Amino acid sequence: MYVGRFAPSPTGPLHFGSLVTAVASYCEAKSNQGRWLVRMEDLDKPREMAGAADNILQTLVAFGFQWDDDVIYQSQRTHAYQLAFEQLQNLGLIYPCNCSRKEIADSATHGIEGLVYPGTCRHGIREARTQQAWRIKTTDKLISFNDTIQGDQSQQLNRDIGDFVLKRADGLFAYQLAVVVDDASQNITHIVRGADLLNSTPRQIYLQQLLGFKQLSYAHIPLAVKANGEKLSKQNLAQPIDKANAPQQIFDALVFLGQNPPPSISQRPLIQIWDWAISNWQLSKINRSISINI
Ligand code: GLU
Repeated sequence: MYVGRFAPSPTGPLHFGSLVTAVASYCEAKSNQGRWLVRMEDLDKPREMAGAADNILQTLVAFGFQWDDDVIYQSQRTHAYQLAFEQLQNLGLIYPCNCSRKEIADSATHGIEGLVYPGTCRHGIREARTQQAWRIKTTDKLISFNDTIQGDQSQQLNRDIGDFVLKRADGLFAYQLAVVVDDASQNITHIVRGADLLNSTPRQIYLQQLLGFKQLSYAHIPLAVKANGEKLSKQNLAQPIDKANAPQQIFDALVFLGQNPPPSISQRPLIQIWDWAISNWQLSKINRSISINI
């Protein structure tokens, strides 16, 4: 059974980039007779915008998305993350780290996604400080996967990423841990999401392996970027999508996703657009690039 999901972070209202992700994951799940779940990734309370979670769900309803189970809220799942964290701790892979940003910057090398933590605290923290994060040890084992859209990918985590944080100094569990625990507990089989998370995937596969979870199928869709290359994100206040004109915007998302919808459907009732979108959906038509200018 195919189980897909859409996992927005409530840092702002949905924008065109997140609509594209929702449409792609929905059409891919529904055209595979699968289930489609919504998970609210509201773990990072400091970055949350008040009212955004409800606003996102209302927008999804207004656009005619139908999810197949209750919405899960990460803010209510700390216990599950704690259990997984303890499981990794029992494997001897977790250590506290109280390096400051400056200390890391002074001795780190550059990896795929910024600085590679130099492992300073692996053998014990140097001096007691109140705030400490918890990192997981990475290894030189190559982690590879075939992304359905972006093709073969591999990373050597200790060289490309470094020991990464699972629990932040402010006590919050990190996205990388939460997403792996939730995808497993919701029995997700297929992930369709934005290519900004392509580089996170080997970290997630590593955690799946250590926690004894199944590896999932991944498809990372191109990001919608502004002509100046900037990613559309809720943080840079990309225009929220307009609930009043859902058919046109689903149409635009289908165009972005390479599906060539006939122009006539852009003014049809939602039910007809979804019917067209799901019955004509082909993931293979999506452009195999990391980003597309809009
Ligand atoms: N919550 C993440 C975001 O909104 C998506 C996480 C995921 O799909 O794994 O960017």
